Amino acid sequence: MSRLIALLPGDGVGPEIVAAARVVLAAVADTFGHDFEFREGLIGGGAIDATGQPLPAETTALCQASAGVLLGAVGGPQWSDPSAPVRPEQGLLALRRALGVFANLRPVMTLPALYGASPLKESLLDGVDILFVRELTGGIYFGAKQRDADRASDLCSYTREEIERVLRLAFETARARRGVVTSVDKANVLETSRLWREIATRLGREEFPDVKLEHALVDAVAMQLLQDPRRFDVVVTENMFGDILTDEASVLAGSIGMLPSASLAASGPGLYEPIHGSAPDIAGRGIANPCGTILSAAMLLRHSLGLEAEARAVEQATYEALGRGIGTVDVVGRERGSPTRAVGAAIAAAISEGPARAIA
Ligand code: NAD
Repeated sequence: MSRLIALLPGDGVGPEIVAAARVVLAAVADTFGHDFEFREGLIGGGAIDATGQPLPAETTALCQASAGVLLGAVGGPQWSDPSAPVRPEQGLLALRRALGVFANLRPVMTLPALYGASPLKESLLDGVDILFVRELTGGIYFGAKQRDADRASDLCSYTREEIERVLRLAFETARARRGVVTSVDKANVLETSRLWREIATRLGREEFPDVKLEHALVDAVAMQLLQDPRRFDVVVTENMFGDILTDEASVLAGSIGMLPSASLAASGPGLYEPIHGSAPDIAGRGIANPCGTILSAAMLLRHSLGLEAEARAVEQATYEALGRGIGTVDVVGRERGSPTRAVGAAIAAAISEGPARAIA
């Protein structure tokens, strides 16, 4: 299997956080005896400046030849003129399309060391461990758009196949967790949701009778995520509902800089990135939280390279570092905050010295 890992640092804090994750991946390679090959590509604003294109053909080719792609973030004020012919975000959308990634996985976990960084009460945060599976390539974001002077519309459309493949992935993932899938829709109002619910019910009954399936309306889930987040295991939903619910849930984890994501295709490389943007307000200062990117690298090890023990070692090392108070300012406060690079180095050292070596 290809052990080529494509690194796309992108813009803003992207190069800083991807560099930290690379150090961690190098520690994994060294500790577990793997031979990863890293190659960097251009994407986003930096790619526009260098080539005129937000996703140069060489970057697409590099990503398609790789086992997995680790991306920092794209965008920034210098490329945000709405009348510009090309924009950084187009590079990301084009890459998702080129890789055919249809399911976006976003784990949200709470860590005791970070309870203080969340605005919610500790008693609500204890033990939260949710995996969101968001449909990524269909629904209202991609439907036909119409506009005249006094009227506008966005079509929300889903095919059976689009719904089935993301639901199947959610059921399979739940089997390896606590075995509960919450399928989120708005079936009391939307026809697409009624089709979604029908397919979820049939799949659950025929293919995954061992997984507990519950249906829930999106408005109720928005409330329950803050009232009783522990009740959720795997939450699967369509594109726009998933976009909104995952941002809401990120508040549980304490900082947007903590959260990783994986975007998976039916076959071929996956795309792994932190959920945050390029954070231009702190770019170049060496204080960005690299944990979302490092945990995304762990997901790459798990989903694209099949290296479960290595993925767990990265996750454990990250939680341990945070548990010892080693983190950036957004999670441990101004007084105790460490630089991005030092957090990456501490996590890499924990992998090299920790129980991972014993497992290897
Ligand atoms: P953002 O996520 O970049 O920043 C929001 C806030 O969170 C800022 O205060 C920032 O400093 C903080 N933050 C973000 N990541 C952090 C980290 N790792 N460590 C510590 N703090 C962190 O969102 P924004 O400001 O709305 O967008 C900035 C740019 O990023 C825009 O150009 C936007 O289009 C782009 N963007 C890109 C992506 C992506 O590449 N996937 C996603 C969202 C936004």
